[in-house]
Amino acid sequence: MRASPEQVLADVFGYAAFRGPQADVIGHVMAGGSALLLMPTGGGKSLCYQVPALCLDGVAVVVSPLIALMRDQVTALLQFGVKAAALNSSLHPAEAAETEQALVDGKLDLIYVAPERLLSEGFLALLERCRVALFAIDEAHCMSQWGHDFRPEYAKLSILAERFGAVPRLALTATADGPTAKDIVGQLGIAPEHVFAAGFDRPNIRYRVSPRSAGRRQLLDFIRNEHPGQAGIVYCQSRKKAEETAAWLTAEGIECLPYHAGMGADARAANQDRFLKEDGLVMAATIAFGMGIDKPDVRFVAHMCLPKNMEAYYQETGRAGRDGMPAEALMLYSMQDIAMIRQFIEGSEAPDNQRRIEHQKLDALLGYCEIADCRRRVLLAYFGEQRREACGNCDNCLAPPRVFDGTEAARKFLSCVYRTGQRFGAGYVIDVLLGEESDRILKFGHDRLSTHGIGGEFSRRQWQSIARQLVARNLLMVDIAGHGGMRLGAGARAVLKGEEEVRLREDTERKAAPKKRRRRASQPLAPENEGLFEALRALRAELAQAQGVPPYVVFHDATLLAMAEVKPQTRDEFAELSGVGQAKLERYADRFIGVIRDLPES
Ligand code: ADP
Ligand code: ZN
Repeated sequence: MRASPEQVLADVFGYAAFRGPQADVIGHVMAGGSALLLMPTGGGKSLCYQVPALCLDGVAVVVSPLIALMRDQVTALLQFGVKAAALNSSLHPAEAAETEQALVDGKLDLIYVAPERLLSEGFLALLERCRVALFAIDEAHCMSQWGHDFRPEYAKLSILAERFGAVPRLALTATADGPTAKDIVGQLGIAPEHVFAAGFDRPNIRYRVSPRSAGRRQLLDFIRNEHPGQAGIVYCQSRKKAEETAAWLTAEGIECLPYHAGMGADARAANQDRFLKEDGLVMAATIAFGMGIDKPDVRFVAHMCLPKNMEAYYQETGRAGRDGMPAEALMLYSMQDIAMIRQFIEGSEAPDNQRRIEHQKLDALLGYCEIADCRRRVLLAYFGEQRREACGNCDNCLAPPRVFDGTEAARKFLSCVYRTGQRFGAGYVIDVLLGEESDRILKFGHDRLSTHGIGGEFSRRQWQSIARQLVARNLLMVDIAGHGGMRLGAGARAVLKGEEEVRLREDTERKAAPKKRRRRASQPLAPENEGLFEALRALRAELAQAQGVPPYVVFHDATLLAMAEVKPQTRDEFAELSGVGQAKLERYADRFIGVIRDLPES
C-alpha cells in the first residue's frame, strides 16, 4: 500500500473530493473486489481505476478498444506525472519491446492494451510473471452482443476471470441496458450486487430538436449566434454531406474539417488530430467519427438528420461537454429521415423480431422528437430513470410549445391521402387540401374530391408540420423508394373513425434563442476576466503545441476559467485550483502566474 485514495486524488490529480459512486467503487476495488461501473460520459470513470492503480502495488492493466483512446489517456496521465504506457499495433516493435520490459520490471503503474494483444498467449504469460493490481475493462459494453458496439475480441475477455481469478476486474461503460449489463457481469465473474451506477443524466447538456427547414442556414445561425469560436461536431447523413458541410461552413468563415470512412486513413487521422489539438474547430462527420474521441471541451453536437435510435443519440450527443461545462445538442430532422430509416429497417436482412425491435426503437426516438414537454425526462425514462421534475435546460422547458387537439386535422389529412389513392407525396396532398387547381390536380380529377379545399384553416407550413407528426406516429407511412408517396399506417383507421384523439404540437420551429441571453451559456465568465482568460488560453495553446499534446491535457477549461476568476499570485494559491496536482504545479505554475501578474490593472 502506498498512498490513500484521497491523497492520490489531491496530490496527483488536484481534485478536492470524489464524485458520485467514485469513492465506493474505489474502496471496493482496493479491497480486492470486482465490479461493473455504469456512469455517464464525463462522470469520471477513469479515476475509478487510475486512483487504485496508484494506491495498490503492481500494475493496472486497462483494456481499451481504440488506439486513439489509449493515446489520449496516456498523454493525460503523463501530464499528471503518472507512469503510464500503451501497447497496441501502432507501436514500432522496438518500442513495444521496451514497454513490455518496463512492465516486467515493475516500472509502470498503468498499462493500456488492445484486447487482441492482451489475449495473445505471449502477453498472458508475460502478465503471469508480473504483479497485476487490477484489470480495467473500458467500454465494457463491447463485450455483449446486446450492446450497440459488439466486438468479438472483447467477448473473449472472460478468460481474465478464469486465469487471474484473484485479481480484481473493473468493467466500465456509459451505455449498457439491462441485458448488456447482465452479460458483462456474467462473463467477468462479477457478482450482480456489485454493479455501481450513477444516473444517465448529463445536466450540463442542453437538448434542442427542430424540424429541418433550411438545414444549413439553421446550422450556421446556431453556430454563429450561440457557439462562435467553439469546438463542435456536426453529424451528417452521408460522406458527401459531410464534405459539403465542411466546405460550406469554412466558406462562411467557420473553420470546419470533414471526417468519414471514405477518406484515406491518413487524412482522417490528420483531421482528427487537428480537431483535438487546435482550439475551436468544427468537425462535419458521419457517425464514423466519435468513438474514442475523448476531447472534453466539445461545446456542441449538431445532428443534421435523425440519429439511428435513442442509444445512438445519447452516445453522440454525449460527446459534448465531457468536462462538465455547459454544452448544447441540436437535432434537425425531417419527414424524409423517418421514411428513410423505416425503409432501411424494412429492407434489412434481419429476422422479423429484430426488425420489430428496430421499429420500436425508431418510434421511441420520434416520440422524443415530437414531445411537447421536458425532453430530458423522456430521454432518461428511455434508459429506465424516472424523473418527476422538468429539467429547465431543454428547448421545451425553456420555451414551452403549444399543443392543440389535432384530431380533425389528422382526419382531414389521412382522408385526403386515402382518397387520392395512397400514392402521392405530402406536397401534393397539401395542395389538394388547400384547394389548388394545378394541372396535375385537374388531370387526376382531384378537384372533385370531397377533401379538395377543406384545409384552409392551416397554412402550407402548418400542414407540413402536421404531416410530419402523423408520420412520426406511424399514422402515415412514406415510401421513399418510390416518390415519397404516402399511405395510411397502423392506427390511421381508428383516427378516421373518430375512435382515437390526436394531440399535436404547433409548428415547433422557433427562431434563434431570445436576445436577452446575452452572455453565452457556454462561457460562464465575468466580462472583466475575458481578457485574462484569452491570455491564459494562448499560453496553454503554446505549451501544448511545444509538447505536441492537446491543450486540454495541460489544463481543462474549468481549471483555466477558475484561474481567470481567482487570479492566483503564488504557488500555494495556484495549487488550490481544481485540476492542479503536484506534477502540473511544478511544470506550469510559474508560467501561468507570470501571465496573471503581467495583467495590466483594470
Ligand atoms: P468518463 O470516463 O466517465 O467519461 P472522465 O474520467 O474522462 O469521464 O472524467 C470526466 C472529467 O471529470 C475529467 O475532466 C476528469 O478529470 C473530471 N473528474 C473526474 N472525477 C473528478 C472529481 N472527483 N473531481 C473533479 N473532477 C473530476
Ligand atoms: Zn427539460
